[in-house]
Amino acid sequence: MNDKPEKFIDENGLRLDGRQIDEIRPMTIKIGVLSRADGSCYMEWGNNKILVAVYGPRELHPRRLQKSDSALIRYRYNMAAFSVEDRIRPGPSRRSTEISKVSREAFEPVVMTNLYPSAVIDVFAEVLQADAGTRTAAINAASIALADAGIPMKSLVAACAVGKVDGKLVLDLNKPEDNYGQADLPIAMTQDGEITLLQMDGNLTQEEFKQALEMCKKGCLQILEMQKEALKGKFGEDAAIEVPED
Ligand code: ADP
Repeated sequence: MNDKPEKFIDENGLRLDGRQIDEIRPMTIKIGVLSRADGSCYMEWGNNKILVAVYGPRELHPRRLQKSDSALIRYRYNMAAFSVEDRIRPGPSRRSTEISKVSREAFEPVVMTNLYPSAVIDVFAEVLQADAGTRTAAINAASIALADAGIPMKSLVAACAVGKVDGKLVLDLNKPEDNYGQADLPIAMTQDGEITLLQMDGNLTQEEFKQALEMCKKGCLQILEMQKEALKGKFGEDAAIEVPED
């Protein structure tokens, strides 16, 4: 079945869901929703619904996997069977394994693993409802859940995708844009703009790529503000992330 829209951007420059080309979807954030986890976050971003639980730092078993000078980060991205229109077969898939790997790598440069030798930090990202951009939504929620767990980080990580539809760059792809667009570029970055994840489907010219990075940076800065506001809401104004000495 091909339900590709004829046009993605109307004569007023608005997208199918009424957004401007550089506008992100509405986001709501709830922190500390799971009492057994050390840190947790429930996030809605557009129609995505994501729950992230963080456990640790705790001793890593089996011991042979322990690193004597740092903690190991494990990140599991999983889509619930009921998260999309067709049921998803439970268990890991190529896609979820890849997303878990790149998402873990998005956090490795910021989490101060050197403070917790022989430990493990587990991040479980469960997609309850998927509507394009779940890897970036999960990273945004994981960043907050890690902070909620009190895990020292050099920066929060914010993530957003840029894509191309009707020959134009658009920020934070919705489902039809993701399905039928000409490009999809999910990016994660720190508050200093250090890129910790960059993937790309489709084609962009060099100029478009540069513009996409700029667009994404603006989106990520907005997300960082929302993440910080949410953390301040739970921990108060003094919730500034303190970076301990190496
Ligand atoms: P992301 O969710 O990070 O954008 P993809 O680009 O791989 O990742 O997927 C885009 C969207 O396609 C997902 O958000 C989800 O809505 C849908 N999707 C992904 N995998 C499946 C699947 N196995 N079955 C049905 N829909 C899926």
